Amino acid sequence: MKINLKQFEVWFVTGSQHLYGPETLKAVAQHSQEIAKALNAAPAIPVKVVFKPVMVSPDAITELCQQANNAAKCIGLVTWCHTFSPSKMWINGLKQLRKPICHLHTQYNRDLPWATIDMDFMNMNQAAHGDREHGFIMSRMRLNRKVVVGFWQEEATQEKIGAWTRAAAAWADWQGGKFVRFGDNMREVAVTEGDKVSAQMKFGFSVNTHGVGDLVQVVNAVSEKEVDALCKTYEGAYEMTADLKKGGKRHKSVREAARIELGILQFLTAGGYKGYTDTFEDLHGLAQLPGVGSQRMMAAGYGFGGEGDWKTAALVRAMKVMASGLEGGTSFMEDYTYHLQPGNKLVLGAHMLEICPSIADGKVSLQVHPLGIGGKADPARLVFNTPAGAAVNASLMDFGNRFRLLISEVDCITPEHSMPKLPVAQAVWQCRPSFEDACAAWIYAGGAHHTGFSQAVTTEMLEDFGAIAGLEVVVIDADTKLRQFKQELAWNDAAYGLKGGWAA
Ligand code: MN
Repeated sequence: MKINLKQFEVWFVTGSQHLYGPETLKAVAQHSQEIAKALNAAPAIPVKVVFKPVMVSPDAITELCQQANNAAKCIGLVTWCHTFSPSKMWINGLKQLRKPICHLHTQYNRDLPWATIDMDFMNMNQAAHGDREHGFIMSRMRLNRKVVVGFWQEEATQEKIGAWTRAAAAWADWQGGKFVRFGDNMREVAVTEGDKVSAQMKFGFSVNTHGVGDLVQVVNAVSEKEVDALCKTYEGAYEMTADLKKGGKRHKSVREAARIELGILQFLTAGGYKGYTDTFEDLHGLAQLPGVGSQRMMAAGYGFGGEGDWKTAALVRAMKVMASGLEGGTSFMEDYTYHLQPGNKLVLGAHMLEICPSIADGKVSLQVHPLGIGGKADPARLVFNTPAGAAVNASLMDFGNRFRLLISEVDCITPEHSMPKLPVAQAVWQCRPSFEDACAAWIYAGGAHHTGFSQAVTTEMLEDFGAIAGLEVVVIDADTKLRQFKQELAWNDAAYGLKGGWAA
């Protein structure tokens, strides 16, 4: 399931009013068209930017917002007030608008024409106050939106709009999205639990369960021919020892894994699912815990969470959408173990098996090893390292009265030593601002051990996504001060308590 962001469009909407007369409004429309065209062509903006007629009346604005709500392809509005657009005209439309909104605060003309500036220029280029009126009404109505300030031709401005369009695309993808849980949660685990009804009301996606037996039925019906073909694909794509290849004495394990992968793919395709969870505690009828299959499903764009972690499965899917077309991979991840050398403290991230090969630094090998827990046959998995470079870890937790999105910026490194005995894919990173403060902040914030990890998605995209979704967003980065961070958590508790009540 290739994720194609060009299927989505944002509408470029310019606010004005009748007061200016037809000549001025004609010029406003021309300028707006020019800006929309430039944004549509900007490499940093991955979706289509569609020009809409200049808004001059309350009725037109209301109609436009209704059209946006009903247009499946429209994932949001970019608004701008070249001239002055009295904001009471916008109230009825904005009240009904159910699509994300990005308020672009720019000016058509870059420079003041010092020698020739007159009142005509002033009256045409008045976003400086027109956009303030526009911003007031959205703040007054408590509307979540992104405000982007900058000259429209500048790359930095286009990149900010681009980040928001990626978040808006992920949001659109969640609406009506379906995720399946094979089995329930890992017994007694708290952080992977949550209120699926709240999540569906708030986020638009549904999570429903299937007994693993339903999957087993599909897996068992996979033909030998399909298994042959996928094993051949494995041999072409990954390094494998002779005993795992066709004719080898451990080839059977690889065949079982291929059969499971094909079964999962068929199940997800038939059900229209965008992601799934499984758990090693509920594998009745499956020969192995899905390893290589789950890894390759993620590489194909599906969300995944281990041990019944549906929130992370949905988050990984959203991050896959945000990352579409960008360099760098995105994976399910778990903070696994530490290197605590003074001055060089590191986190090794991995999972029992399920790390997406989109984050591999080149060489990927397919290996079969015992799992240690679950009591099943030895599962096949892809093993690789992750390239050095900036990355984010994101975690979504249910706090009873709200969901919290926690984002941590890290820097992956290439370890000085190889890990020849480690039978799983891994990433090694340094934390910002420091190992101690980042981990303390993460734990104070109740961050999960499971995350969505990405070298393509940025904090900005996740923040924009959080704003669209109405999430509490908390960031740990190079500027984090632990004392301030603890206060932020306390203030957020109070703020969300006032908004939605306190939950036990
Ligand atoms: Mn786990």
